[in-house]
Amino acid sequence: MTLTRTILSLSLATLCTAAAATPKAPADVDGARIRAADQEPGNWMSHGRTYDEQRHSPLARIDAGNVGRLGLAWTVKLDVDRGVEATPIVVDGVMYTTGAWSIVYALDARTGKRLWTFDPKVPGENLGQGCCDTVNRGVAVWKGKVYVGSFDGRLIALDAKTGKVAWSVDTILDRKKSYTVTGAPRIVKGKVLIGNGGAEFGVRGYITAYDAETGKQAWRFYTVPGDPALPPEDKAMEIALKTWSGNNWVKWGGGGTVWDSMAYDPELDLLYIGTGNGSPWNHQFRSEGKGDNLFLSSIVALRPDTGEYVWHYQTTPSDMWDYTATQHIVLADIAIDGAPRKVLMQAPKNGFFYVLDRTNGKLLSAKNFVPINWATHVDLATGRPVVSADVNYLTGPKVVIPSFLGAHNWQPMSFNPKTGLVYLPAQESVAGLEAQKQPLFIPHKSVVNLGVEVPDLPEDPKVEAEIRSAWKGRLIAWDPVKQAPAWTQEYTAPWNGGTLSTAGNLVFQGTADGRAVAYAADTGKKLWDARVNSGAMAAPVTYEVGGEQYVTFMVGWGGAFPGVAGPLSHSTRVQAEARVVTFKLGARGKLPPPKQAPQGLPPLREVTASADQLKTARTMFNGFCGSCHGLNAVSGSVYPDLRYMTPKKHEQYVAVVSGSRLNRGMPNFASVLKPEDMELIRQYIVKRAHDLKGQLAQAGGK
Ligand code: CA
Repeated sequence: MTLTRTILSLSLATLCTAAAATPKAPADVDGARIRAADQEPGNWMSHGRTYDEQRHSPLARIDAGNVGRLGLAWTVKLDVDRGVEATPIVVDGVMYTTGAWSIVYALDARTGKRLWTFDPKVPGENLGQGCCDTVNRGVAVWKGKVYVGSFDGRLIALDAKTGKVAWSVDTILDRKKSYTVTGAPRIVKGKVLIGNGGAEFGVRGYITAYDAETGKQAWRFYTVPGDPALPPEDKAMEIALKTWSGNNWVKWGGGGTVWDSMAYDPELDLLYIGTGNGSPWNHQFRSEGKGDNLFLSSIVALRPDTGEYVWHYQTTPSDMWDYTATQHIVLADIAIDGAPRKVLMQAPKNGFFYVLDRTNGKLLSAKNFVPINWATHVDLATGRPVVSADVNYLTGPKVVIPSFLGAHNWQPMSFNPKTGLVYLPAQESVAGLEAQKQPLFIPHKSVVNLGVEVPDLPEDPKVEAEIRSAWKGRLIAWDPVKQAPAWTQEYTAPWNGGTLSTAGNLVFQGTADGRAVAYAADTGKKLWDARVNSGAMAAPVTYEVGGEQYVTFMVGWGGAFPGVAGPLSHSTRVQAEARVVTFKLGARGKLPPPKQAPQGLPPLREVTASADQLKTARTMFNGFCGSCHGLNAVSGSVYPDLRYMTPKKHEQYVAVVSGSRLNRGMPNFASVLKPEDMELIRQYIVKRAHDLKGQLAQAGGK
């Protein structure tokens, strides 16, 4: 026994010396290593750390007792100040992460030193082809390569050592449509899996698998049927086609895009994907108001070798509220009624927390985790939601809860096997929706048409404040067995960060108001928080290098919420500033001061347009400019707030609207706006600057 032990420790010592002497090849990760990730908890080798995407780290050097001593170890400023949504991958002391415009960074995980940067040079005009900012949710690594899906739809493999391109493929089915890629690839059994987004722009959803070594396409799984005049591509499309009516969706795309979540169970050999909303939102235009429309808003189980369909569960049949089921999927083995069950958990936009049997897709339980009005409950016998008549906007304008931004969006949740709790970044939101009587037009490249009108946000600051108060954020520690919260933490604003769970009895989360926070996992007590300068939406990660544990937050305000709902997000009062922020115990680094919001208004021009003209100008502004610069010219702090335009900016105005800043993402409107229209829109901007001046004077500002 003693001898065996001695030999064992001797050989271990030899191994350790060898490991220290020969540096490992960069990103030398394969399936066996990811499956055994718990054996090397210092690394974070795939998107959700493990294939089950629990985002729970066994590291416990930082714990509930000492987390208060966390300080800034290092920070790296990213190249573009826009939304940051990436989960960094950390392997053997190197961090691979992404910023806006799909730019990839390789950093020394101990110091933050830049090892290399790869910019896929996505053309600036592509900004208008996506709904929700030029975000990217991170890379995957495999056998010495780093993989990124670029915003313009390429899948690019990079040499992990140099950042040089090994291969690049075009993942887009139809370049005449507005497809974008923002999701992180996953790699299963040597195949790189990547989906895309674009359902608001009229696309057909699918996911594709490529050989990790060569980039050769292995399979493609469509999520909605193609033209019913042609034979269905596979058995899944045969099943799906029966749930659609007419053929209108062919020109509207159908939707069902796989823009974010995936998980993999190696034992069952099942790949799980989450699918998005219908295109258009309006079920009448899409499918004559009939049918469930598979596989919209669904979780679908596939064979990773072939893409063959195995089972599906549809969360929102006949979706008409943008209730995607692309939200984070977590696999876990938990005891239900005393028996261990292999479950799949998801809390999609529609506000229900689902627990499924992941062997067969059968619903085990579902319960709403925030107040909702679109359905009363999910019928466990049929697995279907019992939809409320109050939200069918085909019969007239309706108030729908949650809104199209969801009770939970892409921000990942995490699961702690010890507490048995899921840490869910939830939110409350409301939308008014009204069907178009006739389709205005079929959506086309860079132009959204949902078949639905979202009623105007009034200019009145009091009404705006009232609507804003209905939008809140909440961190919920959800017990998936009891289907009830164990504890909650309230935030004044929605769109807070994804979560990280650790064996140190900790939950980490970034906030929309620019902080990094740690809570006790069992009680929810707040134990630590630190300023990070900008909204932190991405889920943090933790890793170990040289015996020291680090926690990294990817920081950068942006994405769908501040863009689409500008004035509503303004309550957070943060500026977009993109950086990697890494903490460790006892560190004393200091962040530079945060970027300042515009201070004071410049000299204002005169408003010369009549009240009637200004009304038209407002409609034009909200239609052409509002989705980036904020409805009613109140920006959500990512894109410039035009009310603060200086005399110099006014001089450049016509040129900027006519394409001079195309490379920065500002579209060229010269073909759709006449010079007099541009002037009218400018008049509205100036009018809103005067409104702001009045409000500031009233509030005692200047
Ligand atoms: Ca959508």
